[in-house]
Amino acid sequence: MFCSQCEECLLQCSAGLNIPILMRSYMYAFGYHSPWKARETLDHIKLASVPCLNCESCSVKCSSGFDIKRKATDIARILDVPKEFLV
Ligand code: SF4
Ligand code: SF4
Repeated sequence: MFCSQCEECLLQCSAGLNIPILMRSYMYAFGYHSPWKARETLDHIKLASVPCLNCESCSVKCSSGFDIKRKATDIARILDVPKEFLV
């Protein structure tokens, strides 16, 4: 659940995603149950969408063994929720 923010994954995504930020957002949503904070975190990197669904194999190797593609796809759904519904 909790990303150490070690940044070993930072340059590994072939699509240039900022994985530590995505994992921080995931942690807020699913670890701290704060979807508003999760969305605010994603908004810092002005992410319109997450390209993971179109990626056949994930090139990112997380030092904590996270399934980055699954987690990034999970947290990306928050971009579809209108902000006024987030607390
Ligand atoms: S390698 Fe894993 S633990 Fe480290 S910052 Fe990336 S997602 Fe977080
Ligand atoms: S699945 Fe997502 S995180 Fe993994 S390489 Fe593709 S775009 Fe990057």
